[in-house]
Formats: sequence, C-alpha cells, structure tokens
Amino acid sequence: MTQKNYSFEAETGQILELLTHSIYSNKEIFLRELISNASDAIDKARIKSLTDTAYLGDDSEFKIRVDTDTKASTITITDNGIGMSEEEVHKHIGTIAKSGTKEFIEKLKEAKESTENSLIGQFGVGFYSAFMIADKVTLETNTGSEKKSTIWTSDGKGSYDITQGEKTSRGTTITLHVGKEHKEFLEEWTLKSLIKKYSNYVWVPIMMLENENPDKKDEKRSYERVNETKSIWTKNKSEVKDEEYNEFYKSLAYDFNTPLAHLHLDIEGAINYKSLLYIPEKVSMTGAHEDARAEYGPKLYVQNVLILENAKELLPVWLRFVSWVVETSDLPLNVSREMLQSNTVLDKIKSGLTKKVLSKLKALSKKDEASYREFLSHYGKILKEGIHYDQDHKEDIAEIVRFQSLLKSERVSLDTYLENSLPSPAGEGTEGWGQEKSEETEKWGQKTIYYITGRNESEALANPYLEQFREKNIDVLVMTDPIDEWAVQALTEYKWAKLLSATSSKVELESEKTEDEKKKSEEKQKDFKDILELMKNTIGTDTLEEVKISDRLWSSLAALNTAEGAMTPGMEKMYRAMGQEFPPVKRILEINPENKLMQAMLTEFKADVKSEKLKDLIHYAYEQALLAEGWEISDITAFIKRTNMFAESYM
Ligand code: ADP
Repeated sequence: MTQKNYSFEAETGQILELLTHSIYSNKEIFLRELISNASDAIDKARIKSLTDTAYLGDDSEFKIRVDTDTKASTITITDNGIGMSEEEVHKHIGTIAKSGTKEFIEKLKEAKESTENSLIGQFGVGFYSAFMIADKVTLETNTGSEKKSTIWTSDGKGSYDITQGEKTSRGTTITLHVGKEHKEFLEEWTLKSLIKKYSNYVWVPIMMLENENPDKKDEKRSYERVNETKSIWTKNKSEVKDEEYNEFYKSLAYDFNTPLAHLHLDIEGAINYKSLLYIPEKVSMTGAHEDARAEYGPKLYVQNVLILENAKELLPVWLRFVSWVVETSDLPLNVSREMLQSNTVLDKIKSGLTKKVLSKLKALSKKDEASYREFLSHYGKILKEGIHYDQDHKEDIAEIVRFQSLLKSERVSLDTYLENSLPSPAGEGTEGWGQEKSEETEKWGQKTIYYITGRNESEALANPYLEQFREKNIDVLVMTDPIDEWAVQALTEYKWAKLLSATSSKVELESEKTEDEKKKSEEKQKDFKDILELMKNTIGTDTLEEVKISDRLWSSLAALNTAEGAMTPGMEKMYRAMGQEFPPVKRILEINPENKLMQAMLTEFKADVKSEKLKDLIHYAYEQALLAEGWEISDITAFIKRTNMFAESYM
C-alpha cells in the first residue's frame, strides 16, 4: 500500500500546535499517559478473552515494554493489548472526542505561563502528550486478526501519514523520536524513575532492560519488571504513603485534584475482599457525575486480574462520585455481567462498602468543615438522592447532608438544627413521640424540623407562611435542590423529630390560645363566613377546596395551602415540568383577616355583594397567593389591570 496523508481535525491540530510550543514544565507526564493507554488496551484484551477463549492464542502473558535507543534518539512503548484496525486509528488518533476540548483550547490560548501548567495537568492530553518531547511519533498496531499492521506517523504539524506494516502480533508499538532539547528522557534510569513515580500500581508488568552491570558488559541484558508486583490495594496500609495513594487516585478517577479522603479496607470474614475507595473534593474534568445513567462504578478484580470496569452492581447510585477498586477471591475468574446481577457475594460487599463510606463521610463532616462543605457543594445533591431511593440508609444520609437555614444564612445539618431549636409546643404533631425514646426526648425535647421547598431560594423565601416563623424566630430549612422535594417525601422523621412543611395546616407555633383569643377568633369566623363562600365560588369550586381564615399570616393578604395527603405544589410543578398532564390539584386558600385589603373586601361585600370591584379584589387575592407560591398567572393582562386599578385608588 502506498502512503496516504490525512489532515488532522481542526481541534486536534490546535491542541498539537499548543502542546509542541508549550512551556509546560511537567513534560514527563507523557510516559504516564502512554502507559495508561497501553494498560487500558490490555484491560480490553483481557476482558475480551474471558468470553473468547481462543482470542489470546500463545500471546497470553500481558506486558508493556519500554525501550530506549540513545543512538537513534527513540523511546519505544510496546503493549500486547487489543490493538486497533486502520479505521480505529483514524477515529482515535486523528480526533479528540473528549468533551470540553474547545473550552480547553480557548483557555490554553489565553493562559499565562503560571496557569498553563495546571490547565494541561487538569485536562490530561493523552496520546498527544508524546509531542511535548518528540519531533515525530510512529504508532504501529494490529488487532491480532489483521494480515497487515497499520502504521501512523506524524510530526504533529497538521497532518499524519498512514501506511501498512508487517507486524502481525496483537498490540501496539509507539515510537517517539525524541527532540534534541529533551535528551534526558532517553536515559534508562530517568524512565524507570518516571514509571515508579506515575505508574507504579498499574497491574500489568512494565518491563525494561535490567541495569547494566559493568562486570558483565558483553552479556545480553534481560528484561525486569519496574513497577510494583503487588497492587496498591493488596498492600498493607502502613506500606503505602499518602503521595502514592494520591497518585493512584489520579489514574483511577482521571482527576488531577487531590481527593478529600481515601479508605483502604481489608475485610476478612464470611466474604473476603480488599478495597480502596476515594471520595473526591472538587469536580474533575470528567464532571460531577450529575447523570445517573453515566458510566460509573468500581473496577472489580478477582485474583489480581481486572474482571469488570464500571461494576455498578457494587455501588449504590447515590455514591456514584466515589472512585474505587474492589478485589475479592470469592468470585470465579470467568464471572460475567449477567452473573453479577443477583449475586449474594456482591450484595454483601455492596452493603459493607456502603456502610464504610457513610461512616467515613460522617467522620469527615465533623473533621474538616471547609473541605467537607466544598465536597457537599458538588456532590451533596447526589448524596441526597439516597434519602429518596434508599430506605435502609436514608437516616444516615440525612445526618451528613446540609440544608440552608432561614435564620442563619448558611447551610446546617439536621443535628445542628435540632440543637438550636426549642422543643415543640405540647401536642403539636408529636403524637406517639417521645414515649419510647424517653432518654433522648429528655435531652432534646419533642421537636419538629420545619422546612419549606421551592425551585429556588427566592421562590421559597417568598412563601407567606414563613412570616410567622420569622416573627417568632423559629428556624426553617429552605430546600431548593430539585431532589429535596423527593427527599422530604421519604424522610418524614429524623431521630426524635418530625419533619413538617412550614405550610402544613398542622403547624402550630403557639401553645394553647387564651379564652379571650378564642372568643375573638370565633367572632371573626362569623364576620367572614359569607364572604369566604363567595370567594370560593368566584375563583371556582374545581380550583379551590376551601377558603378559610388563617391565624398564621402576618402581613400577607392570602396564601395557598394543600389538603393533607394531596400532591404538594413542589411535586405538582415537577410533574408538570416533565410534561405530565392531570386535572388541577384542588387547593385551600387562606386569607389574613387583619390585612387592609381583606378588610376593604369585607366592607365592599357588606355594601354590594355583586360589585365588580369586589370580584376584582377576590381574584387579586388569589393571584397574589399563586405568585407567592411560584406559579404563573394564566391571565397576566387582567392581573396588571387590577394592580393598576388599586394603585390608582391611592392617587
Ligand atoms: P484517552 O486515552 O483519554 O481516550 P488518548 O488520546 O490517549 O485519549 O487515546 C485515544 C484513544 O486511542 C483511546 O481511547 C484508545 O481507543 C486509542 N488508543 C490509544 N493508545 C492505544 C493503545 N496503546 N492501544 C490501543 N488503543 C489505543
């Protein structure tokens, strides 16, 4: 075949241009990137061989070899992984499909020397990092089933050549023609120390020629393994330094930040497994795992061999931000995905690990407030999913997440909320409480955790029912993450307290009313009885269940409420936003008899029941309540007309 020349995709060309001219000081990472690609390719071959037993043939001993040639100024990295077809070479080595590449290029162009280093570090430029030290790169590859190999060559300046070669064995060989100014990388000891520094825990043996022995100069040198034989998680904790843990995390999670914490477990008992888990603190380039459908889950090893990547079966979905490795000797080597679906060994490991991670998070939440907050700001939403989905762990999760406090302008834990709050007035929502939990109740009193939900802070804070809490200095948790609405549906109790929506008709912040107050309230009921009925009929009986007098509103005119057991407004908004259609949920309209407009309504009502002005006032009261609860008004023109009318009456 003759040689063919192809242009790089625009973005690839740009990246290469930036990299070759980069002053990035950490050029040595090229070796980590290429070894990581080689070991990924070997992982793929290994996994393929599990179902295709003839696939490996007589080339079944996986290894990566690194050779240097000082005369030719080359470094060669060879693997017997899965290899690539010609089509795959075009697809993978001519394009950068990574998300965020465009932004990366823009940032890199703008970057000053000082920030460029951290940018390249964060992005991880993969294969192309070879061009940071090489003037020319050659890649020869065969999937093992092709008669000819594919040879890709490029000087990194806009195009690459493809020819065919003679290599018939499975795998890929990459040759770097090292530039004059980077000669130090040709030294064997430099490469060996880089392997130990960055790739020590790659499970595949990384082989290099043994050190030269001056006494045996004429003898042929043999290859020796440079990286550790033992994987990091099978080692004893005391044998591993923090830097080693952190370095391994980077290769595992593709995250160049230091993790918040790691957890190294060696469990022996009915089921034996070892595991190394990392909890991230910041968000990596690969994102915050917002999407529950994305790939996640630990790497599963059996007897030191990678069996499965993304073993979702081992990880509850609400812990998908954790990076980890699990190794067990209690599964057969040829375990398949199907076998994992209902496997008691895995179920046990899963529940054991979940408990460990939760207690680690609990410890972290008490230890380093600033880092833990940083972690929660990215991953708190994901954790909270567990309150809704995971009956067994909901209380543990509730303990370690935080919610915005109405009175303090910061996020607080439920425990902090309880510590700072007064016992509930007797009788309020506490039936059945405190009896069997006497010791705790004594310490805490019978308590209620009040919350308000909303699609954002401004919507939640506008709720008229918060007035009385502000007035009485009682805290309310302001829940504005979409998942909160689901979480509080599942979490009706926490420790020895009840969760109650601040809008609920069960809220009673005061203890018993005095005789005098009772009398006044009865009189008011009488006064307003007929107008309440008229209001209900004017707005419509298919919209409103009831209109009633409220003693919970301070300055607001009116507020909406939901009957016990009916769908909450937050849920209704969510279902409607998802496109579901159903008849309106009937609401209760509460009015504030002390409000001036309400009193004007009563006067108008007594003068002329049929007046247009009265009708307008009634609609206006209802529309205000709708707005305060974050709904849109269907007839905005009419609402504006009414608002103007009332404004004019002041002029
Ligand atoms: P990344 O490894 O982050 O996907 P790279 O630019 O390093 O990005 O590599 C791009 C792709 O090229 C890889 O995903 C893989 O499909 C392929 N590739 C790279 N190196 C090898 C190799 N040694 N053997 C087989 N495929 C490889």
